[in-house]
Amino acid sequence: MTEQLEHKAKEVLKQVFGFSGFRGTQEPIIRNLLDGKDTFVIMPTGAGKSLCYQLPAVVMEGTAIVISPLIALMKNQVDQLQSLGVNAQFLNSTLSKSEANKVKKETIAKKVKLLYVAPESLTKEETVSFLQDAHISFIAVDEAHCISEWGHDFRPEYRRIKTIVQQLGDHPIIALTATATPKVQLDIMKNLSMEDAALFKSSFNRTNLYYEIRPKQDIKKQLIRFVKEQKGKSGIVYCLSRKKVEEIAEFLKVNDINAAPYHAGLDANVRIQNQDGFLNEDIDVIVATIAFGMGIDKPDVRFVVHYDVPKSLEGYYQETGRAGRDGIESKCLMFFSHNDITKLDKFNKDKSVQERDNARILLQEMTSFAESAVCRRVQLLHYFGEAFDKKNCNKCDNCLHPTDQYQGKDHVELVLKTVKAIEERFGMLHVVDVIKGNPTEYVQSYSHDKLDVYSKGDMETEDFWRSVVRQTMLAGLIEKDIENIGVIKLTDKGAEFLKNPYSITLYKNHDFNDLKQEDEEIDSTPIEATAYDEKLYEMLRALRKKVAKQKKLPPYVIFQEPSLEEMATTYPCTIEELTSITGVGQGKAEKFGKEFVTLIEQYVEDNDIITAADVTVKTTANRSKNKVFIIQQIDKKLELEDIAEALDLSMDEVLEEIEHIVASGTKLNLNYYIDQVVDEDKQEDLLDYFMTTESGDLEEVLEDEDIEDYSEEEIRLMRIKFLSKYAN
Ligand code: ADP
Ligand code: MG
Ligand code: ZN
Repeated sequence: MTEQLEHKAKEVLKQVFGFSGFRGTQEPIIRNLLDGKDTFVIMPTGAGKSLCYQLPAVVMEGTAIVISPLIALMKNQVDQLQSLGVNAQFLNSTLSKSEANKVKKETIAKKVKLLYVAPESLTKEETVSFLQDAHISFIAVDEAHCISEWGHDFRPEYRRIKTIVQQLGDHPIIALTATATPKVQLDIMKNLSMEDAALFKSSFNRTNLYYEIRPKQDIKKQLIRFVKEQKGKSGIVYCLSRKKVEEIAEFLKVNDINAAPYHAGLDANVRIQNQDGFLNEDIDVIVATIAFGMGIDKPDVRFVVHYDVPKSLEGYYQETGRAGRDGIESKCLMFFSHNDITKLDKFNKDKSVQERDNARILLQEMTSFAESAVCRRVQLLHYFGEAFDKKNCNKCDNCLHPTDQYQGKDHVELVLKTVKAIEERFGMLHVVDVIKGNPTEYVQSYSHDKLDVYSKGDMETEDFWRSVVRQTMLAGLIEKDIENIGVIKLTDKGAEFLKNPYSITLYKNHDFNDLKQEDEEIDSTPIEATAYDEKLYEMLRALRKKVAKQKKLPPYVIFQEPSLEEMATTYPCTIEELTSITGVGQGKAEKFGKEFVTLIEQYVEDNDIITAADVTVKTTANRSKNKVFIIQQIDKKLELEDIAEALDLSMDEVLEEIEHIVASGTKLNLNYYIDQVVDEDKQEDLLDYFMTTESGDLEEVLEDEDIEDYSEEEIRLMRIKFLSKYAN
């Protein structure tokens, strides 16, 4: 890729999209596509897939064709792009003939940067011949798992994409999906003939989601209490049946919660009305079957409740994934009961034996997940073939409220010995039968009752041993054989353990049979600390809603919540200051900013913000509150030493905080302080140095011999000044 293009990409990221940096693997993905290579992106929901094709589309010449399955989603994305000042259009069945012709004309005239096309429109001959005349930059296939029957949302029209794309000439393809299973992955690559594409698969860890599972008991009371705690926030409550959806929506409404139902059986008008109401924040809580979700690109869903148990962990992950796409803390709460599992199993009674068995395996996974007291994140990621290296995520019920732990060295050793003794040819249930000493037909026919390990664990229950086997698996000591479904094998790590056993902590399972007791234990969710000015934040939200109504756009298209939070933290009073807010580029600031900065200015004038904030800030030692405090004190031109003292931090730590603040896109004016401690000449030299140095890394800079005559403090201060001035 040319340097020019790379430079332009960075500029567009800031100017058009208003982001201060790329997230995760966005940068290498974008570079690959700009280089004209096929690109395959697997990223969880909310990780930021859209930018991976939207940004190159803006940077490159011509029109990017975006194939996307849902019409609702399409309009949404086009609205968002237009709000950023990007010429994006869509072609689908909702357009009249003359509207469609207008879009086509603009495309041929090379004015359109992104053209969203529904697969069913794409397959029309007239569309193909029109696209053959267009100047195409590349082709993006969003939600690419729709190609595969093994995904969770197969769409037959997607199968025809390949032949059509081939008729359009040789263009790079980027395929994107949030489905991770290897089977689907392979299907996509084959179906789009992109076996040689560069694969970018990112972690499925959604760090901002809090997971909790509660026993399904006194559920209505629990639900009301939970939803009321999230007052005014957007949330989804998933139920299994349409009947339940209507019942719960009604129940919430009666309890003064702004809720509405959504399921495929509702009249289309009502459905659209409820969905739009949710997007526009007229409705806080949508109660829905799983039909609701995929088309919803709402970034600020703050909670997802599973009123009923989902059919699979994959489903659970996808549905909970709809919370917190904007990266802000969000909660996922599921109510579990064995009764639900039995019910779900009954639903499958008309299916073939094979299908029913598969569905049962998925349900067993679901049950084990709920019952296990191991970190939810560790379990979920393990399910997607990913290891989570930290023991404790601190953001799930199991991490916050650990159950009884015990020393599991001997238990694990017995499991491993048994797996080995039965020659790694059997599944979990058989392993447990041998350990427990159950003389089943199988056990006897293989003479496993003659083994040393037989009945060595008869003092514990079968449930207990199942839990040990699972935890042995989560620890990576045994694994499922991919070729022989259900068979358990030792891993190298497991063989190592047998030679050299070490201590290992295991957890007692939750017992959902004894619900009363559990109910008392787990009821508190973590308290969120808000670092921003809540009053101003609410005012900004109200204004956003008003503006959105006028412009007939969903509110988050105007500004997203992280941006509003930051505004309520740094109080930007001019359009220029506004552009330093994450998510606010030049275009957006000019388009929507005026009313917002006017409001903030008025608010700053009306309130003695600094004193008011001081009071709330001093009461906690929260990191993000430190940031707010520091920003405010610097605005008041306080000495850094005094700030350090007030926060009980070292100077080094304060500088580190300031570096973070600046790096995440907030401008800070430290001149009043720097002028006192750094000579004018030195200032100039260091600024020159930063203008020319390639490295953005502080450690590297500190070791650079070119500036070894300067003190660390001088270097760090000038780097902050430099970043604040030029990079933000
Ligand atoms: P996905 O399609 O992967 O589910 P989206 O593309 O809808 O996710 O992006 C999710 C959210 O992340 C959006 O609100 C988007 O504005 C935000 N986002 C994407 N890239 C960045 C970035 N580089 N910096 C900050 N926010 C980003
Ligand atoms: Mg997406
Ligand atoms: Zn955890």
